[in-house]
Amino acid sequence: MIIYYGCRHCGKELGILEYKEIDLSFRFLELIDEQDMMEMVVSEKDGNFRLNVICEYCQQTLEANPNYHELDHFLQ
Ligand SMILES: [Zn+2]
Repeated sequence: MIIYYGCRHCGKELGILEYKEIDLSFRFLELIDEQDMMEMVVSEKDGNFRLNVICEYCQQTLEANPNYHELDHFLQ
């Protein structure tokens, strides 16, 4: 199984996770708790999955613009 992951805000592709790497990668990324992760992973038409995360650039933008953070309902 393959999970593609990319930024949910700008659409930038960030990489591909193979199943055997998922646990380690998710721990490394420290993105979200397990429940949020399940909500953010969506199945693709080809049978693989896509994880919508946030890229470094958008993370910095959100941190620098708290109002934008609220408007975008990030992680809500
Ligand atoms: Zn982005």
